[in-house]
Amino acid sequence: MKVLVLGAGQLARMMALASTPLNIDVLAYDVNNNSVVNPLAPGESLGDLTQGIAECDVITAEFEHIDHAILEQCQRSGKLQPSATAIMTGGDRRLEKALLTECSVSNAKHVIVDNQQSFEQALSELSLPIIFKSALAGYDGKGQWRLKDSDQAQALWSELSEFLTENPTQALVAEQMVPFDREISIIGARNKNGEVKIYPLTENFHQNGVLSVSLAQACDEALQQQALSAFTKLTENLGYTGVLAIEFFQVGEQLLVNEIAPRVHNSGHWSQQGADTCQFENHIRAVTNLPLGNTELVRPTAMINILGTDTVPEALLAIAGLSLHWYGKTKRAGRKMGHINVSAADCETLVSKLEQVASLLPETDFPGVKSYIQSL
Ligand code: ATP
Ligand code: MG
Repeated sequence: MKVLVLGAGQLARMMALASTPLNIDVLAYDVNNNSVVNPLAPGESLGDLTQGIAECDVITAEFEHIDHAILEQCQRSGKLQPSATAIMTGGDRRLEKALLTECSVSNAKHVIVDNQQSFEQALSELSLPIIFKSALAGYDGKGQWRLKDSDQAQALWSELSEFLTENPTQALVAEQMVPFDREISIIGARNKNGEVKIYPLTENFHQNGVLSVSLAQACDEALQQQALSAFTKLTENLGYTGVLAIEFFQVGEQLLVNEIAPRVHNSGHWSQQGADTCQFENHIRAVTNLPLGNTELVRPTAMINILGTDTVPEALLAIAGLSLHWYGKTKRAGRKMGHINVSAADCETLVSKLEQVASLLPETDFPGVKSYIQSL
């Protein structure tokens, strides 16, 4: 069995690592140079997209911002899982919002902005502060503008109208800022038979718009049920196959969807050590129509992203229950280079272990991590 992943980054790499014991081969398609590569050793080209499609049994994706012509070519082969529509929905905030509305899944109040009239409509319908997000190609907090004060509205509109003129396929989603208690996400898998399994809700701490730490511990059953309900409605509507992530804002006892990602997700990396079957293996199982693996929390686990640095203190590896995952990428400021998973038998031990880990991590490379861990 061969699976071709659209995208040749760390998510394809971790899918390959998780698939090897199942005798499933994973190839990756690098969209930047139209070449199929081995995601574990991406130097040599093994062919172009047409050859990759012909050679594999199943095609899937590690990101949603993929040229539509590529998605359509893959869809025509009958091998693409999840569907081109599902991937495009995750890559376009307009389609995402329409899906949430159609499925009656709660999300932040919003207005689609593509001209001055709709900008003014956003100002009158939403209360400040408002966040404007580009409909296409946003990630890690890029393509976002915040309006806190109505005095700034005209200056912001000049900037946004310039952006829209320069990028005619774009629009903006203006969203009311949600005064959330915390950000959490659910990762789940659905296979072709409609079998669904979700992992426990994960708490996410962001720094400068980028995920920094995810924490998976035993969670509130009522919240977990709300997340399952949203997951089921969205995946049924899309006829979805694979792993899907949903980011939520928690406000009191209510979950509001922030966004969805039609793929394995950074906030699910903890599952490599915290669950019997990690999100990467479950994604591969789902798209190859195998039974899904257990998604229960086996032990509380936290994930810390390594951003923009290619070294961490070796002493970390002496801590029991700590695993280091490097992605083999060239260092660049802010780039996701790897992650650290820390597990323990119970939450209390996990927190004290995390304090030990934080004391070894330099604040310059891991801003805010220490204080987040101290707040647990
Ligand atoms: P990702 O890398 O997760 O795909 P992104 O750049 O696509 O991120 P969002 O997740 O929509 O963008 O926003 C980034 C962060 O900005 C959120 O995690 C949250 O902290 C904040 N944010 C976004 N929308 C809102 C909102 N409506 N209210 C409050 N905070 C928000
Ligand atoms: Mg996000």
